[in-house]
Amino acid sequence: MSLETVLGKMENKIVFFNTLGRRFEEFKPINPPNVKMYCCGPTVYNYAHIGNLRTYIFEDVLKKVLEYNGYKVKHVMNITDVGHLTSDADTGEDKMEIGAKREGKSIWDIAEFYTKAFLVDEKKLNIKKPDIICKATDHIKEQIELIRGLEGKGYTYKTSEGIYFDTSKLKDYGKLAKLRIEKLKAGKRIEMGEKNSPTDFALWKFSPTDKKRQMEWDSPWGKGFPGWHIECSAMSMKYLGKHFDVHCGGTDHIPVHHTNEIAQSEASTGSKFVNYWLHGEFLILKEGKMGKSERNFLTINDLEKQGFDPLAYRYFCLTASYRKPLVFSMKNLQSAKNAYERLKNLVSIIQGDQFSKTNHKLIDSYKKEFTENISYDLNMPEALATLWNLMAEKGIGNKEKYDLIKDFDKVLALDLTETTSRFLGDLSRDIKRLIDERELYRKSGNWKKADEVRTQIKNKGYQISDTSDGPKLTKV
Ligand code: AMP
Ligand code: ZN
Repeated sequence: MSLETVLGKMENKIVFFNTLGRRFEEFKPINPPNVKMYCCGPTVYNYAHIGNLRTYIFEDVLKKVLEYNGYKVKHVMNITDVGHLTSDADTGEDKMEIGAKREGKSIWDIAEFYTKAFLVDEKKLNIKKPDIICKATDHIKEQIELIRGLEGKGYTYKTSEGIYFDTSKLKDYGKLAKLRIEKLKAGKRIEMGEKNSPTDFALWKFSPTDKKRQMEWDSPWGKGFPGWHIECSAMSMKYLGKHFDVHCGGTDHIPVHHTNEIAQSEASTGSKFVNYWLHGEFLILKEGKMGKSERNFLTINDLEKQGFDPLAYRYFCLTASYRKPLVFSMKNLQSAKNAYERLKNLVSIIQGDQFSKTNHKLIDSYKKEFTENISYDLNMPEALATLWNLMAEKGIGNKEKYDLIKDFDKVLALDLTETTSRFLGDLSRDIKRLIDERELYRKSGNWKKADEVRTQIKNKGYQISDTSDGPKLTKV
């Protein structure tokens, strides 16, 4: 029996796939019931695209799964508003400077505008606001202190471009990504500049001498700005302590950003930084990557303009494991939207007819199945399957079903029990509800009721006919 199967059978245990070590592990927080979690936030030089938001939905589900299991989560997210260069290998232009130039505004204005826009998108997706949102530019002092500490311990060196971290000083550098340093050195595909090794990275970059940067600060080494990675070490350790439970981000962060966060944090403290590293796989297009730099991205606003409820996108994300790439297309999103609307209609029928039929064993088995699914490395597709089975369950009453749905929605956060929506699609919610209601009566053999509903639909201007693909509507 595989480890996956064995662990999956454990009751009320949370199991995560830890990138550090590449294995499934039972989740054991350092100081239960408290869980400390840090997630890398957006670089605010443009709108977040729906790929970025897939990662934030995964992190939100993770937090809700922990809370559902009784943990108290302290969630910290940074806002990168300085230092993230176009190449993760510390070369190229600052992405924030590019954004400011593109829009003819100051970097500070750009940062404020896109941070607000990001938080609006998160809210539309029912992503709970982190307990602490911290900006890199508000923590320059902490970053400088951390670099000074590393300098004191002999982990840094200076070039004409800045202060660099010497990765050869750490025996286990690259353990997260299982980097093969010798191979990297031989390949030298990474731009080296004056660096001693391709994996060394900037802690502090000097301002250029030929032009003035909008964002720069004095430091013990001269005017400049922090490297991208140091902000996450400085802020996570400030708010969560030197050793904490969970750190997340997209898979692109594994080889460079998170590898370097571990290096500088563990070099600074001399002990383990984070216990569980979880990474979300990318949302992809058939043609390849969706990226802000590729300029082929869609935003939540774009989806809304095309009549999609942002929560239909959340539903779409929940249909795949966070550890698998998810192919986006309008067709795939439309299928998710149809399923989501059908689900909401069924819930509203259940809500409108709250008869009770108690079967504790059955109710407990649904709750247990749902809890096991979400707790086994966030298996949301299976958790949705449990929900759909519950919808069709005849052994318990609507009142009991409704309570379970409300409970499951603490994690799914799909507003399943909210009856209003701005996104009605082509047919009004009322008619969709009647179609589903008639289907339920037909399936239970209550032809009299089914015919009554058919008449109600007709009175609203539609003829319903039953085909092998399900009920079809035509205008009368
Ligand atoms: P950025 O704003 O570029 O720093 O990225 C914000 C977050 O989105 C990071 O955690 C990235 O790993 C993640 N990310 C970037 N592109 C995608 C994508 N296509 N699908 C899923 N996550 C992504
Ligand atoms: Zn980060």
